[in-house]
Amino acid sequence: MNNRYDVVIAGAGPAGGQCARDLVARGYDVVVLETESEDEFPRQSNKSTAGTFPSMMASFGIPDDVVMQYTDSVVLESPTDHYVQEQPGAVLEFADFKRFLVEDGRDGGAEYLFDARVTAPIMENGEIVGVRYNGDEEVYGDIVIDATGPSAPLAKKLDVVDLKRENHAIGIEYEFEGIDIDRPGFADLNDAMMLRLDHEIAPGGYSWVFHTGEDTAKVGLCYLQNEHHSRYAKDGHTVDDYLEHWLETDPRFANAERLEGKQHRGSAHLQLPERMHTDRFMAIGDTVPTVDPLWGEGINKCMQSGRVAAVAVDSCLKHGLEPTAENLEVYDTLWHRDVAPNQRKRLLMTQLLYLAPNERYDQFMADLHRLDEETLAAANNGNILALAKLFDIDDAPLLARFAKQHLKLDQFL
Ligand SMILES: Cc1cc2nc3c(=O)[nH]c(=O)nc-3n(C[C@H](O)[C@H](O)[C@H](O)COP(=O)(O)OP(=O)(O)OC[C@H]3O[C@@H](n4cnc5c(N)ncnc54)[C@H](O)[C@@H]3O)c2cc1C
Repeated sequence: MNNRYDVVIAGAGPAGGQCARDLVARGYDVVVLETESEDEFPRQSNKSTAGTFPSMMASFGIPDDVVMQYTDSVVLESPTDHYVQEQPGAVLEFADFKRFLVEDGRDGGAEYLFDARVTAPIMENGEIVGVRYNGDEEVYGDIVIDATGPSAPLAKKLDVVDLKRENHAIGIEYEFEGIDIDRPGFADLNDAMMLRLDHEIAPGGYSWVFHTGEDTAKVGLCYLQNEHHSRYAKDGHTVDDYLEHWLETDPRFANAERLEGKQHRGSAHLQLPERMHTDRFMAIGDTVPTVDPLWGEGINKCMQSGRVAAVAVDSCLKHGLEPTAENLEVYDTLWHRDVAPNQRKRLLMTQLLYLAPNERYDQFMADLHRLDEETLAAANNGNILALAKLFDIDDAPLLARFAKQHLKLDQFL
């Protein structure tokens, strides 16, 4: 094996896989190091529900054969109500999707090294020049990219990211058959991705049912392990206990059976990045982190971050420029401008959403029915005037509590 490349990428997730595809398309020598073995890939990292939208599929040339189910709507549920938004989407088979990224990258000329756990940067004169993996093995590159998701071994050692425990969101999901997809009294979940706001089921977070055809679906929940969670949590309950509780109490799951081996779990941090690159180095995807905090859309965002990192590589190497922090600055600029333009506002909206009590979630569904689609789209993008239309005088106590907490929440931002 050659041990010198233009670019070394740690992690074969959506971010690293896409970055590699874009770089080989521009003719660079790229190696991707992945900790898992190729035979079982992805195993532990097969963590995502993988609901996505046509813009992602088209932008990145993702083939139909990694799609489990095309969907027509996104449904929001509260404890006693729901709201349906017509919106085409796709639920991917995340494992097939990850393997496609590897195959396609390889076809383009990327080298993939499985069973390669990256542990540390190799430093020369204060700059990263390569990575150490599996103890004492080494590989060198002009630019190194950490795309290992929340484990971030390089970004942490280089002090580029500081992923905080209080911003750590955990999620669990099972795939089921035998679900009552169109149960009277609930929304019709045929061809839908449903997200449910209900502290009884996911305290300080949300749960979901993503339809995968006939009577099958991905069912899961996630929450941030912070004070919003503690406020509504049941003593001693784990994330598994909450899912169990939902399965036992929701009549749609009365005859549901788990599909063997179809369990996924994972985590991400929801926080605003301070830095995401330094000399010869960029952190991408959930290492930054890049996932959208409000609804957990990470695949598209992380692939976009891989794409803008590839642009930054090209802007240096093509012109023979040293990839100094200054010359790689274009990565940060594009991340903030194009990949996650409203991240600060969306983090605040996330805090506010999870602080609201269950009764407010029911009222929220009524608000969604009342407002036109344009206002809702603007509110989702953090437009203050549109957001203001979602609140009334009865929200004063909630907003006051939010303002008070926000004063203490500077670490979050
Ligand atoms: C339960 C759950 C449900 C989700 N549902 C959705 C959804 O419906 N839609 C959506 O868009 N997003 C969803 N997301 C978010 C999305 O999956 C992530 O944002 C996305 O996978 C992040 O991509 P990434 O490439 O940055 O990191 P990851 O997907 O974490 O990939 C990192 C890769 O690096 C490897 N790695 C880790 N450490 C090392 C190391 N030391 N050396 C070498 N390799 C290493 C891992 O094995 C993995 O292959 C969900 C996440 C979770 C946890």
